[in-house]
Amino acid sequence: MLTNLRAGHKCMNMHGHNYEVEVRLMGPVETETGMVFDYGDLKDVEEWINTHLDHSHISCTKEESEIIQSCCLRILKSRKDDSSEYTSKTYVLNKPATAENIATEIYLQAKRLCSLVSSVMVRETRDTWAVNLD
Ligand SMILES: [Zn+2]
Repeated sequence: MLTNLRAGHKCMNMHGHNYEVEVRLMGPVETETGMVFDYGDLKDVEEWINTHLDHSHISCTKEESEIIQSCCLRILKSRKDDSSEYTSKTYVLNKPATAENIATEIYLQAKRLCSLVSSVMVRETRDTWAVNLD
């Protein structure tokens, strides 16, 4: 759910998105391996995305995250579900959960895991995406 948008903007509703993420690397080709980087070593980046963002509510603030948690518990209780150990997966971004900000967050995390990361693209649709560059 985004705020500070023009009245009636559809992204002011609680909703979700499916994203594709493209991580690009830049560096010299190593003589020994003939590669810039072993793709298999990008698993840490994929794992970070899957652990923190996949099927997660990306919240703008910690307070928003806690409200989401509370609402999910209330829904489960209303269904007479045993919700005592339930926690909804949330990630606090500390800024609006736009494709631009998500791309920046993934870029920062990916760069921490692999110094050769040069850009991260978050694609919402075939025609819409955001890119964070070095
Ligand atoms: Zn949206």
